[in-house]
Amino acid sequence: MSQTEKKNGKMGQVCTIDSLGRIVVPSLMRKTYNMGKNEPVELIMMDEGILMRKYKPGCIFCNNIHDLTVFKDNIICKDCLKEMSEML
Ligand SMILES: [Zn+2]
Repeated sequence: MSQTEKKNGKMGQVCTIDSLGRIVVPSLMRKTYNMGKNEPVELIMMDEGILMRKYKPGCIFCNNIHDLTVFKDNIICKDCLKEMSEML
């Protein structure tokens, strides 16, 4: 694996997909994003490729799992959405 640096200062890592479609997520990245063994991750199809992130079934702000809505690929609960709208 080799490291790449993107224009926005983000670090990338070149990985190879094996014959079963698997890749190894580098340990530094797993530690940085607190991704433990057997932890679910979410793969999201973006215009520029696949985004992988830790799977969080609830609101991104408070982890509430009720009254959820999706806004720009993020899950937000009704209470947080109301709180945000009151800030305007
Ligand atoms: Zn919330």
